Amino acid sequence: MALDILVIGAGMGGLTAALALQQSGHRVRVVDRVAELRPVGAAISVWSNGVKVLKALGIGDAVEDVSGRMNHMRYMSRDGELLTDFSLQPLYDQVGQRACPIARAALQQLLLEAVGEDNVTLGLACSDYHAGDSGVTARFADGSQRRADLIVIADGTHSKLRERALGRQVDRRYCGYVNWNVRVPASADLAPLDHWVQYVGDHQRVSMMPMSGDAEAPEFYCFFDVPLPAGTPNDPAGYRDELARHFAGWAAPVQRLIERFDPAAMARVEIHDIEPLETLIGPRAAILGDAAHGMAPDLGQGGCQAMEDAWVLARTLDNAAGDIPRALTAYDAARSERVGEIVARARKRAETTHGADPAATQAWYAELADEDGSHIMAGMSKTILGGPLG
Ligand SMILES: Cc1cc2nc3c(=O)[nH]c(=O)nc-3n(C[C@H](O)[C@H](O)[C@H](O)COP(=O)(O)OP(=O)(O)OC[C@H]3O[C@@H](n4cnc5c(N)ncnc54)[C@H](O)[C@@H]3O)c2cc1C
Repeated sequence: MALDILVIGAGMGGLTAALALQQSGHRVRVVDRVAELRPVGAAISVWSNGVKVLKALGIGDAVEDVSGRMNHMRYMSRDGELLTDFSLQPLYDQVGQRACPIARAALQQLLLEAVGEDNVTLGLACSDYHAGDSGVTARFADGSQRRADLIVIADGTHSKLRERALGRQVDRRYCGYVNWNVRVPASADLAPLDHWVQYVGDHQRVSMMPMSGDAEAPEFYCFFDVPLPAGTPNDPAGYRDELARHFAGWAAPVQRLIERFDPAAMARVEIHDIEPLETLIGPRAAILGDAAHGMAPDLGQGGCQAMEDAWVLARTLDNAAGDIPRALTAYDAARSERVGEIVARARKRAETTHGADPAATQAWYAELADEDGSHIMAGMSKTILGGPLG
């Protein structure tokens, strides 16, 4: 049965949901408060579970075409000593799909085109909604209202609407570190062009990942992580000095990267997550993406889980033949435990990488020196194969 569905938020979660729901025959309207969609952050690694969803929705090949060729993974010590270097091909063979590191703007544009710009209203903030027996009514900041059969709450990590669905306030937790991310032209004096290279030491991390499929102008998606108290100053004019100070004495490619990045194109984020929610649904409401499971980016799974949410929501509605409460209950059952477990693992990974327990971080550095790739890929494969498309 075709439903009227209102999706609040045109990030990768809301747009993927809109696409999946349209393809199931529903009438979908997406609303976002921003006048122009300009994703915060440089790029994103869509891991194989996310790519599988995008492929099933018909845009995976286009995503793959403009994403980076990340064929190997390498860890280095802060001093430039090789810890481990291995091919990711065994992982890709096992899970049946490569990962696609891609510019956020490119992913957003592909999703927007697939959903259809006419189906997206920008510059309209949803202030609240009310769910009743016959439908849901959303209220907007300009005083207008819109009725639907179902609302999809995809308004991101700071979501206000999830509080209406859950009937309680949800606080974000600081994960204890700051992340600076930026795109830079790829070059072999930074890292091999088909390697994801990470330098680790002092509870800090520097990452360079091939993110562009454009052979003429390849780029790296780069980031720096530094454990810091919450609320430190955020001034782009100071990024280069700040990072030069934090990474003084690190290997030459790290110094080159610090000299080369454009601070004006850089995003600086204090990393937060959200304690796993008790439920991802409310009456006539599905919570999805970061609104449902804001997580540390240390597994690269936040966006991928939003894509999985979108896929599962469409399938549960397909299977419920118009019975919305039944579909929502099935969505909650399929997603809550999986995303709760990934939020917890991402937090643990963040703690280990960033020195929450310094002995555990030292032990991890030692493990990396013994790693042949099999342990790291086993963890990734477990995450990927646990998704709805296997
Ligand atoms: C540093 C970093 C690196 C990351 N790396 C990865 C990675 O490699 N792989 C991965 O899978 N994930 C990664 N993530 C996570 C990923 O970015 C998020 O999970 C993803 O962007 C969430 O998408 P979303 O659509 O749920 O939310 P958002 O992208 O936040 O979109 C929410 C939208 O809702 C709109 N909105 C908010 N309130 C309202 C309102 N009241 N009315 C109307 N519109 C509203 C906003 O304007 C916004 O457009 C990373 C995150 C960070 C911080």
